[in-house]
Amino acid sequence: MSHFPLLIISRSQPASPERTIFENTLHEKLQAANIPVCLLPDLSLLRKGSDALTFLQQANGPIIFLNWLQPRATYWWLAFLEVPGKMASAVPDEAPAFPQDRAILPFNLAALDSPEQWVEKALALVDKNPKNFLEVSRRFPLPIGERWYPVIDRSRCVNCLQCLEFCIFGVYDRNADGNLVVKSPDSCKPGCPACSRVCPQQAIMFPLHPDDLGIAGADGVAIQPFDPAQANQLRAEYQQGKTSVEDIVRACGCASGESGCGCKADDGACGCQAEESSDCGCDCACHAEKRDYLDDLIDELGNE
Ligand code: SF4
Ligand code: SF4
Repeated sequence: MSHFPLLIISRSQPASPERTIFENTLHEKLQAANIPVCLLPDLSLLRKGSDALTFLQQANGPIIFLNWLQPRATYWWLAFLEVPGKMASAVPDEAPAFPQDRAILPFNLAALDSPEQWVEKALALVDKNPKNFLEVSRRFPLPIGERWYPVIDRSRCVNCLQCLEFCIFGVYDRNADGNLVVKSPDSCKPGCPACSRVCPQQAIMFPLHPDDLGIAGADGVAIQPFDPAQANQLRAEYQQGKTSVEDIVRACGCASGESGCGCKADDGACGCQAEESSDCGCDCACHAEKRDYLDDLIDELGNE
């Protein structure tokens, strides 16, 4: 097996102009520094059997993986996609038994300010010699579409199956060994992170969640849990037609960073991480400005 690492840039999904410019500039600067690099779609768009995923599964040697996700989420997402490897440094003892003992080094591109810094970082990982990278440069087409589904941190999951019981859309199932699997990812409701707040082990991540770092898989950031009674009530109400998927999404944490979540959750219950209500367009009371006597006075004067 080669010990030269393969360098990957996995494109942002959904794409934003800033991220696309950052990725393109980084790609150009790596090429200018004679560093071989491969451009892949976002992990959510890698379907089983696709050229891009097959390439990744069959790649020889360690992988340095640059994308916009939390590194823990990237690692377990690659595991879900059956890309063999062991997370380098962070959780070496907790990695699953893959057929090959291969290192995976995921990095979140947001961690450094500029493409130039990433070029320096990449070179530092290979003794500053571009010839120490695996000499493979590929560019895979970016499929159209968006996908949203849960990724399980297998080092945390205890197979309690609470997520399977909670999800009424058939996303989860058990495999022949009785272990939890994400069987129908595309049945998951876009933007909904509900089961991540039901899992007692905080093992369920939605790596594309734009607001909540815990749900997105950041190390050391707790997910605000649902009380089991509240979760059961939500589930029962949905089954009785008394609530909608949109209501469940709102109650579980808004996932719309820009267009507004329209959240009607009670104060503090929506899980929204936006600092100001105007950041997410949220109608919830979580970020409502506190009124003082001056606000009342202005209202009174306005009514006269
Ligand atoms: S609820 Fe969490 S710990 Fe339980 S089976 Fe699901 S992912 Fe695993
Ligand atoms: S977020 Fe909702 S739809 Fe998706 S897997 Fe979890 S419970 Fe099921």
